[in-house]
Amino acid sequence: MPDKNQLSMEETREMFLHLCKGMITQKDLLTQADKEIGDGDHGMGMARGFTAVLRKIENQTFASVDVLVKTVGQTLMSSMGGASGIIFGTVFTAGARRLGGRDSFDSQALGLMLADGLEGVKNRGKAGVGSKTMVDALEPAALMSAESASKSLAESLVDVTAAAREGMEKTKQMVAAFGRAKTLGERSLGYADPGALSTYLILKFMAEFVKTLEN
Ligand code: ADP
Ligand code: MG
Repeated sequence: MPDKNQLSMEETREMFLHLCKGMITQKDLLTQADKEIGDGDHGMGMARGFTAVLRKIENQTFASVDVLVKTVGQTLMSSMGGASGIIFGTVFTAGARRLGGRDSFDSQALGLMLADGLEGVKNRGKAGVGSKTMVDALEPAALMSAESASKSLAESLVDVTAAAREGMEKTKQMVAAFGRAKTLGERSLGYADPGALSTYLILKFMAEFVKTLEN
């Protein structure tokens, strides 16, 4: 079987549904991660956000990728609330910027979404790589996505997920400079940033869905 190269609108919607269901199952893991270095609400926030997205998109059809991706972002923002609702919502609201008119999702669309999503998050949150935030996973993922844009979507997602995971792992050696973990200083050492973990998981669930389409 050849690698999946592009998803139809319906498959793209199904990929986001799979990602929503996946993130909801990670609630306890994300709660635990945020308890270590934050206030413990990250699992709840993500579960609430992705439950809202699931409900929003499960009975709708979308004519183009940008409308779907923008809907995901806006729903995350309005349902999660707080700083992280804005941060994770922005990945998709900003990420939709150059996806207008596309009626399929491929590795090029992934690259645009991650590049614009990253730019949006950095503009909003002012965190760069090394501050122990989700940017530490999203930036290497976006860079890898640009590098692997000529590969199949399935192959590109494998590379992108690996890059996000590596970035997430690196946050264990970082002292937090943003968000609630900032007040912990050196005590945040040894623990991964919860938002970086979520970012890796989001990509992992996208990759997982695309992989199932090959078989
Ligand atoms: P809160 O910080 O309000 O408790 P969450 O626990 O849901 O919200 O999310 C925390 C995550 O949000 C952090 O682990 C970090 O990855 C991300 N985050 C917080 N502030 C920023 C920022 N300025 N830029 C990028 N990501 C951020
Ligand atoms: Mg928190």
